[in-house]
Amino acid sequence: MSADPYAWLEESLATIHRADWYRSVQTIHGCPGATVVLEGLEVINFASNDYLGLAGDQRLMAAATAAIQELGTGTTGSRLLSGNREIHRELEEAIAALKQTEDALVFSSGYLANIGTITALVGKRDLILSDQYNHSSLKNGAILSGATIIEYPHGDVAELLTQLHQHRQNYRRCLMITDSVFSMDGDLCQLPELLDITQEFSCMLLVDEAHATGVLGKTGAGCVEHFNCTVRQLIQIGTLSKALGSLGGYVAGSKTLIDFLRNRAPSWIYTTALSPADTAAALAAINIVQLEPQLRAQLWRNVDYLKHLLQQRLPHLKLLPSQSPIVCFQLKDATEALKVGQQLKSAGIFAPAIRPPTVPTSRIRLSVMATHELTHIEKLVETLLYADISKNSFVT
Ligand code: PMP
Repeated sequence: MSADPYAWLEESLATIHRADWYRSVQTIHGCPGATVVLEGLEVINFASNDYLGLAGDQRLMAAATAAIQELGTGTTGSRLLSGNREIHRELEEAIAALKQTEDALVFSSGYLANIGTITALVGKRDLILSDQYNHSSLKNGAILSGATIIEYPHGDVAELLTQLHQHRQNYRRCLMITDSVFSMDGDLCQLPELLDITQEFSCMLLVDEAHATGVLGKTGAGCVEHFNCTVRQLIQIGTLSKALGSLGGYVAGSKTLIDFLRNRAPSWIYTTALSPADTAAALAAINIVQLEPQLRAQLWRNVDYLKHLLQQRLPHLKLLPSQSPIVCFQLKDATEALKVGQQLKSAGIFAPAIRPPTVPTSRIRLSVMATHELTHIEKLVETLLYADISKNSFVT
């Protein structure tokens, strides 16, 4: 046998290219912000998850720099060995205070928080109910857990109930998992209804607040606060890398849950503790989220302005339903989405095309920031109106 065992990689890549699903990276130079330099071109940034504009905030940078000076760059080991620092605990207490939970646990990323938590909570004899549009980290956590997975159509609570009536009694534990803000559509899960269901069927509920933390709720605690659902039974997951402008993930919930995860979540136990710089930056961000509600107000003013202008000037655009700073409009297919993304970029607007297999239908995903100026939003809408973008590109 002398055949090249890697030959299939080239063929597979060629198939990805043919479908216009090929992905390549683009480089941003300098600090992140409402405008950035992308491949040498200054563009208005509608592509980031930095909703409050904190990733380039001087206060976060100063906190990170001070932490490096005091504690060094790396943590040298896992939290249970040589990696634990006082600042990790401070951050966990700040997250628990923001989320109004008994305790919290910090992971190296939101992805790892989801994987570690789901695999710790359920296994072969258990059932997972998962929204079809959930983030990859929830889906992969579910697969890794070995539990039986039932995926219900996006937001279809009636179908979720039907599935529970049929299958719940055949399994030991049941875990419902859902994004709170769906990352590629911008709509919200029906949290109050989901919580009611957990009572009726004795299910655990894990809600991923990645895009809601710092953004939704009076104090920025997320979707849970938005719906006034701060209850002890809920497992809240999130990231430090979006509105909080840093890196890392968290789980917030009861003391018992957190204690259990410290003993059972493999992606927390067997990985190096979060760096001092990331930890300090996230801590500074939570402070800002709590002390400066005006940042959130500015974000929502911008979101409302964008939605209003799009509806008024481009009524033919098919906007996906959204109750968040993520605003998407649909395009005919991946090729059209790529074309429109490229045309926007040439006009100085960074708004990426999102295509299958990430999402079922191709779209442009606009992500609004508190630090956008109204003129940035106006330029985006003008560009969509007057640039050489064929009306045939859009799903209307
Ligand atoms: N959950 C959701 C809903 C997300 O959108 C993301 C990031 N795209 C994650 C989890 C993963 O978070 P992190 O980037 O911190 O790994």
